[in-house]
Amino acid sequence: MQNEEIGSSQSLSRLRQELRRLLADLERSLEVVFGRTPLIKGTVYEMARKCGKPTCACTRGQLHKSLVLSWSHQGKTRLKAIPPEKLAKVRRKSEEYARFRRGRAQISVINKQMLEVIDHIEALRREEP
Ligand SMILES: [Zn+2]
Repeated sequence: MQNEEIGSSQSLSRLRQELRRLLADLERSLEVVFGRTPLIKGTVYEMARKCGKPTCACTRGQLHKSLVLSWSHQGKTRLKAIPPEKLAKVRRKSEEYARFRRGRAQISVINKQMLEVIDHIEALRREEP
């Protein structure tokens, strides 16, 4: 083997390792996509507000508290009250949605990285016709 070929085979070996590592990352990131639980877009939080009645306790700092789901739709923030009996389920599904979106973002990054490695491998393996 010529020196140049030895050098490129070491690079190829590193690139193959890198590609396998990315593939393992990809599989991990895809786990959430293969899940079966429903997803709810939005964040659950407690909203505290005044109702506007001049004699209400909320004017003295005892704000009305309610749990809401907040999400953005076509650039606007939407709110929906969550009945207490649905809180646990809504919270779980909204957390799962956040995990799903994080997974999707990771997959997008990994995808780009894989293509870079693949192009690099191609450049090293390619010979003149
Ligand atoms: Zn009030």
